[in-house]
Amino acid sequence: MLEPEGATATVLWIAHFVGAYWLVTMCHEAFHVAAACVLGHFSVFTQHNLLSATCSKHVHVPGASGWHGACIRHAGWAGSVLLATLLSTGTLYVPESCTRFGIQWQAAAWLTG
Ligand SMILES: [Zn+2]
Repeated sequence: MLEPEGATATVLWIAHFVGAYWLVTMCHEAFHVAAACVLGHFSVFTQHNLLSATCSKHVHVPGASGWHGACIRHAGWAGSVLLATLLSTGTLYVPESCTRFGIQWQAAAWLTG
């Protein structure tokens, strides 16, 4: 297979990183949502949260305060660190086609943590 070179390779690398960052950011927000559900805050499932989790890296959990709020807030970075560790150690399988430009997935996961 012909490998991209020069500016094309750079543009592809950046595009791949942006895509990876977007996907791991959604995973980060999913960890917040999962923590909210574990703690019984099912009101987290709103159309607004779906849009904000995919577009603006944010979810709002109505009624979450005190230690529930703290757990939900920290679940995001804890999940991102777990995901980054799994990706960095090769524990979590990522297809070769997704990693051939470098370490975008690992870098993106660490950045969201
Ligand atoms: Zn977060």
